[in-house]
Amino acid sequence: MIPSWDLNWPAWVVIILFGAAVGSFLNVVIYRLPHRQSLLHPPSHCRSCGTRLRALDLIPVLSYVLLRGRCRYCGKSFSPRYAIVELATGLLAAAAVYTCGLGLYAVGVFVCLCALIVVIYVDLDHMIIPDETVVVILIVGLLFDCRQMLQQGTEQLISFHERFGPELYPEIYSEYLVYLPRSIVGALVGAGVFLFITWFFTALMRKPVMGMGDVKLAGAMGAILGPGYGFFVYFLLSIIIGAVISVALIALRIRSRRDYIPFGPMMALAGMVMLLAADIVVPLVLQFYRI
Ligand SMILES: [Zn+2]
Repeated sequence: MIPSWDLNWPAWVVIILFGAAVGSFLNVVIYRLPHRQSLLHPPSHCRSCGTRLRALDLIPVLSYVLLRGRCRYCGKSFSPRYAIVELATGLLAAAAVYTCGLGLYAVGVFVCLCALIVVIYVDLDHMIIPDETVVVILIVGLLFDCRQMLQQGTEQLISFHERFGPELYPEIYSEYLVYLPRSIVGALVGAGVFLFITWFFTALMRKPVMGMGDVKLAGAMGAILGPGYGFFVYFLLSIIIGAVISVALIALRIRSRRDYIPFGPMMALAGMVMLLAADIVVPLVLQFYRI
């Protein structure tokens, strides 16, 4: 792993360009995944005139700016979203390397950030969270846990103190510890908490407040953050972000009070904050919590 302060500016430019190129692929994923289309075939084409786009039309962000957001062949304007996703992915790649250093861990964090970008846009467009995005985050969470177990041994495992009471079985009286991996307990706690909330509020308000996609995403984030303070702060953060954005959308009359506002994008934003800045956010939130 190369620490981020050892990287010079050309290295940062390469990281951002690499991220933007990945962002270009994420645009394809965001559009095709909910339609169950192949991510590789056919190659990128204008959705209006069908012309296959060349390398020159596909340079992240730059092509959009140079062509003023229009198709070179038919003149139809593209949504600025493509350029926004490319730019955001480029900056998130830099943020991942900045916080984790240049190494395999940063790659894992960046993969999760990419999955969360897909969650935001697919949930906004289709009100679903694709299982593929959840599985990607879950796998990264399990791999991170394996890495920590290899480095720190059983310290990284969650231990439960169990005891057979002498009252019941005096002849086999014993105490022992049961060890369970952090990621698996985290996934169960994360999904369990959200499943309970979904059930409770659906029963209370007699309309769905969250979907099963949100429950699965919470489980995957639990695998990354573990069942402790990390997940607790993540949970608070998604509610705070959700409340702020919902109030803003209603105040700005973009959505009405009766509209269903998907919770997946809020959970994804909170997840991004936790992946990049848990060291800062967790102590900050717990400070308020203790008062
Ligand atoms: Zn066109």
